[in-house]
Amino acid sequence: MIWEKIEGRAQLVQTLQTAIQTGHVVHAYLFYGPVGIGKKTIAQVFAAALNCHNKDRACGQCPSCRHAFGGLHPDIHWIMPEGKTLKIEQIRAMKKYAYLQPRLGRYQIFILVHAETMTTEAANSLLVVLEEAPAASIFILLAEQPALLPATVLSRCQLMAVPRLDTDTMTNFIQKTAHVTSEELAIILDAAEGIPGRALEGLKKRNWLLQYEQAVQILVEAVNGEQISRLAARLAESEELDVLLDTILLVLRDLLLWQTVGKLAQGRLERINSLLPIWNANQCINAIQIIIAWQQKLQSPINIRLALENLLMCLKEVGLDANCGGNPL
Ligand SMILES: [Zn+2]
Repeated sequence: MIWEKIEGRAQLVQTLQTAIQTGHVVHAYLFYGPVGIGKKTIAQVFAAALNCHNKDRACGQCPSCRHAFGGLHPDIHWIMPEGKTLKIEQIRAMKKYAYLQPRLGRYQIFILVHAETMTTEAANSLLVVLEEAPAASIFILLAEQPALLPATVLSRCQLMAVPRLDTDTMTNFIQKTAHVTSEELAIILDAAEGIPGRALEGLKKRNWLLQYEQAVQILVEAVNGEQISRLAARLAESEELDVLLDTILLVLRDLLLWQTVGKLAQGRLERINSLLPIWNANQCINAIQIIIAWQQKLQSPINIRLALENLLMCLKEVGLDANCGGNPL
């Protein structure tokens, strides 16, 4: 059963299975959720199930399924952004296939990855296809933020939110993937926030405890250290800056949690002890907002080192305010 590849989303799977079994498949779906949530896996399984030769059980064994998971299915087309956008030329090329009969399965299936990056021209071109969708074609759009898609396109799609995984499912997923201690597991669960891809990204190459300690150290240095520019230069060289910033956010959330509710995962308090005199709850909230805002700016093509220097200066100001007569909670 290929549906088992989609873990912990029983309701979503049920909806898709029922659509196939009752013949109520629509021409366009939009799966949406954050990076790493599993949109591509769901699209791959759904596409395979739609074209499986054993319609009722989605076998994973038939020639169609084997091709779907081997990445070379003549009727399943993955369309990724070229550069930063999905372009009208790509939609035009897609259209040529959309009107052909499928060769191996029942449908020609088009999976548009990062659909929100479609240019206006591409979206308009897609809209024309969606309005007169050929009987044997299905379009699966994947997006992090559906609000960035034109309403006209959204209105043609069945919207499917991909939910985060619950703690038990995440725990099973992590333990199946790597051997971790209970303290590491707790950190990964908190850092990944129900997003399996985020956990996976770190599991293979990172020591989470070291990562957490590094994040603590950065928050100490940002306030007490003299050399903000040197710290920024060091961070700019980090190959995993995204994860590091996420971990700093996790440390700040831990501080906030401790200062407001007095609860923290086992062993974590000792690790953030050095920060308690520096960061009060208000400062943590401010710092979290600053980092989230800078994370978005860092997605655009800017000078990373200068951006980090600015970010660290902001954090320093926030942290120093706390030390200059702030109101510790
Ligand atoms: Zn099959």
